[in-house]
Amino acid sequence: MINNGWRPAASGKRYPVENPATEENLADVAAGDAADVDNAVHAAKACFESAAWRDTSGRKRGKLLFKAADLLESRLDEMARLETAQNGKTLFESKIEIGMTINTLRYYAGWTDKIVGDTLPVDGPFFTYTLREPIGVVGAIVPWNFPLNIASWKFAPALAAGCTVVLKPASETPLTALLFAEIALEAGFPPGAFNVICGGGSTAGAALVRHPDVDKISFTGSTERGRQVMKMAADTNKRVTMELGGKSPNIIFADADLKSAVRGAQTGIFYGKGEVCAAGSRLLVEKSVHQQVIEQLAEGAKKMTPGDPLDKNTRLGALVSKKQQETVLSYIKKGVDEGAQLVAGGKAAKPNGKGYYVEATVFDAVQPEMTIAREEIFGPVLAVLTFDDFEQGVQLANNTIYGLAAGIWTKDIQKAHRAAKAIRAGTVWINSYNFYDSGAPFGGFKASGFGRDLGREALDGYLETKTVWVGL
Ligand code: NAD
Repeated sequence: MINNGWRPAASGKRYPVENPATEENLADVAAGDAADVDNAVHAAKACFESAAWRDTSGRKRGKLLFKAADLLESRLDEMARLETAQNGKTLFESKIEIGMTINTLRYYAGWTDKIVGDTLPVDGPFFTYTLREPIGVVGAIVPWNFPLNIASWKFAPALAAGCTVVLKPASETPLTALLFAEIALEAGFPPGAFNVICGGGSTAGAALVRHPDVDKISFTGSTERGRQVMKMAADTNKRVTMELGGKSPNIIFADADLKSAVRGAQTGIFYGKGEVCAAGSRLLVEKSVHQQVIEQLAEGAKKMTPGDPLDKNTRLGALVSKKQQETVLSYIKKGVDEGAQLVAGGKAAKPNGKGYYVEATVFDAVQPEMTIAREEIFGPVLAVLTFDDFEQGVQLANNTIYGLAAGIWTKDIQKAHRAAKAIRAGTVWINSYNFYDSGAPFGGFKASGFGRDLGREALDGYLETKTVWVGL
């Protein structure tokens, strides 16, 4: 959708989008490449520079975002079903995702008339102040795990700030972005303010990153791709925000409420089939309670049978693709080969004779140097490690190149806060896991990236500061 119009790819090419739970073709979508990206960026730039957008007051932009939120809310069920169809997650999870997207639109709609600068008490006969101005054209590149929600973490603050947007969804999951484009059209965004280009990462994605008229790239994806994108973006001095991979520790201290902690460990790794950047994929358990925790975990995992994502009793949907299923299974094999002990799951599943499912899998006796303790698997696979005391627990938690999130389970309030301070991660959940809110910044330390989605900080990422000096 370019300049408020639906177009085929300039090349005329299309590619199929598959339902990973049924292996059926859902749609053939335009395979955009550099020519289409150029058209979309041209439209976004023209809109950014036009009076129609530049002179729109914040309040008017807010109205458009509120309208889009209302329209999305009225189509929540349809959007959630489409998200489930293309991603494989349960309808229950999709409804939560789309609900969060609506909140995000409203949260940033509320910011539009509160973007302010400062007056500065400088030396000399001057009146000096700052203006906060939109960066310009934003290229938003997003992954397939929360396709519409993560897209909204970028386009909502960008549009609120007064930027214009070219969104490139993951090639596996473009359909909800396209349905949202329909909503944006209906809401009344001017031509060029919000554009969607479908296509591959190395074609459409790379063209967006290289385009000289794109002022900022907001990227969410794997750490490896993020590094490539940063290098490419450097050639045209783009601003970049990077939300990358994770291998997040979830720490159970012996004094925790074990029932809640085990439930939290399960939500931490099995929610969204483990295809969650902040998944608590390393469970660190204090030795004295290890046996109890493992027994409860193994029992719980066995109950998480994979099934039809549209069935309301299903708790574990299909992985996003055959390729992702193969990646996850290869990690499980590595875990076994390197000597970890499989206590639940470990196999592919086909609940209705179709689909790319993997059982809820738990490995015990994992050592820190094993591949499954170090690398992001992005599937329903938990690695359980043990520790002797607080210092060792924290040291293990930080023993990773990543720093996206962490969980801490204890009834000791001082210990909880000490651990939260000592762990190098962008989000720390105490006696909870996997909670998000439009108002709470989310992003990584270390190889998990920099810059933040959500909260006021994300809005700052789409604004430049201009300092104005008036001689008196
Ligand atoms: P990916 O890196 O393969 O792809 C992400 C996006 O980048 C897709 O739209 C893809 O088409 C595009 N892309 C790929 N190569 C590109 C290139 N050369 N130039 C420009 N764009 C390119 O990631 P994925 O497999 O879709 O998603 C899974 C990864 O995303 C995991 O590593 C996960 O941890 C991460 N993730 C991070 C967060 C976070 O907030 N930190 C959230 C969700 C997912």
